[in-house]
Amino acid sequence: MEFNDSVLIKREPDDDVKPAAEERQWMTLHCAQCNAVLSDSSCVCGEASSLDSIMCLRVTDDVIVTDAKKLGRTGSLVNCIYSRLKCGGCSCTVGKVIHAAPFHLSTLRSSFLLSKANVSCYVLSSGRMVKASTLSFDQKPFRENLNQTKRTFEVTLDRMSSLKTRIVERNAFPMQKK
Ligand SMILES: [Zn+2]
Repeated sequence: MEFNDSVLIKREPDDDVKPAAEERQWMTLHCAQCNAVLSDSSCVCGEASSLDSIMCLRVTDDVIVTDAKKLGRTGSLVNCIYSRLKCGGCSCTVGKVIHAAPFHLSTLRSSFLLSKANVSCYVLSSGRMVKASTLSFDQKPFRENLNQTKRTFEVTLDRMSSLKTRIVERNAFPMQKK
């Protein structure tokens, strides 16, 4: 075997350990009216299905937070204090940012909520613009991501241990020179 006398180890297929990045669909998020870039998939942290919105940690300068703070009196935003998000290109409403919310909506506080109905997505892999309403932005549950990371570390640890064993064996029994 070509790897028997080497400290190198044979690369195993990573079928069961796919980096999370490979599963993510890379895209930019645009205003559905004027196509101004509002954010991208690296800033998306989930979907607020009750508000039909994409949760973003960051948005571009083309997203303007309006000064007026509103108090939700009906619907999903009851008892929430929020501001509307406007597109800097065409001034249409593209979402909300919640400043204060009851406990059951506390995870939405301070993230930018882009309304799926007002957003289009340019999917980099296909080079196509699609409506955000046709896509899901749900993130994997934290535990699932944690388990996947744990598996990646275990595989890496196995490989490191194997490499260490080979180095120790090689130093203990150096190859004979002819
Ligand atoms: Zn716009």
